[in-house]
Amino acid sequence: MTNPLFSLAGRTALVTGSSRGLGLAIARGLAEAGAAIVLNGVNAERLEETAAALRAEGFSVSSAAFDVTDEAAVVATFERFDAEGVAIDILVNNAGIQYRKPIVELDLANWNRVIDTNLTSAFLVSREAAKRMLPRKHGKVVNIGSLMSGLGRATVAPYTAAKGGIKTLTQAMAAEWAEHGIQANAIGPGYMLTDMNQALIDNVEFDSWVKGRTPSRRWGRPDELIGAAVFLASDASNYVNGQIIYVDGGMSAVL
Ligand code: NDP
Repeated sequence: MTNPLFSLAGRTALVTGSSRGLGLAIARGLAEAGAAIVLNGVNAERLEETAAALRAEGFSVSSAAFDVTDEAAVVATFERFDAEGVAIDILVNNAGIQYRKPIVELDLANWNRVIDTNLTSAFLVSREAAKRMLPRKHGKVVNIGSLMSGLGRATVAPYTAAKGGIKTLTQAMAAEWAEHGIQANAIGPGYMLTDMNQALIDNVEFDSWVKGRTPSRRWGRPDELIGAAVFLASDASNYVNGQIIYVDGGMSAVL
C-alpha cells in the first residue's frame, strides 16, 4: 500500500502545457495519485483529445485552453474557475518552448517569446493561483525548470536565462508563501524523450553525446518525472520549500 502522505485524493491540480510531453506525463501521474486534473495547452483540439483519452481511462479530467503568456486569458481562466467552484490546490507550471540561435543572431522578439513562455508565464499563473491559495492556507506550486536552471549552454541563451529564473523565482515564492502553508518547489529535468527534443533525438551525434554525458547513459522518459511531481504536490513535501530536484540521470551532478 502507498504511504497516505503521497495521496492526492480530494485535490485539484492544474498542469500547464499538459496536452502532450512532460506535462501530460505529470498530469497523468497526479491523476493516478488521486487528483482531479485540469489540463492546459494552446491547441484546443489536441487538448480535448488528450482530455477525452484520460477520461476514458476513468480519471477526473477537465481542460482549460489558454495561452500562459496572455495575462488577460490567465486572469479570465481563474475567474471562470471561481465561478464554477473549482479550487486549484496544486499548480504545475510546465508550459515551455525551446528556440536555438547563437546570441549574436538572436532577435529581441524571439528572446521575449522564450522568456515569456518559460518564465513570465510561471509568474502570471502562480500569481492567480496563489491569490486563491493564500486565504485557504494550503497549496503546492511546482515549477518545471531544467538542467539549464543551473548551467549555461551555447545556442539556448533565452532558455537558460528563463530556466535559471525559474529556480530563483521558486525561491522567491517560497520566501513569500511558506509561512502561509504554500510550498513552492521546482523540478529540473535533463534530456527527455519529447517532441521538444525530436530533432536532437534524431541527430546521431547529439544522441550519442547525451548518452555519453549522462551517468544513466540514456535519455529520460516523461513518466520518470512522476515520482518527483507527486512528492512535491503531496503532503510528503510539506517541509520542503524553494528547492529544485534534478531528474536528469545524474547529468547535473558530474563532469
Ligand atoms: P513539448 O513541446 O513536448 O510540449 C509543450 C507543451 O506546452 C504542450 O502541451 C504545449 O501545448 C504547451 N505550450 C507551449 N506553449 C504554450 C503556451 N504559450 N500556453 C500554454 N501551453 C503552451 O515540451 P516538453 O514536454 O518537452 O517540455 C515541457 C516543459 O519541460 C517545458 O517547460 C520545458 O522547457 C521543460 N523541459 C523539457 C525538457 C526536455 O528534455 N524535454 C528538459 C528540461 C525541461 P500545445 O500542445 O497546445 O502546443
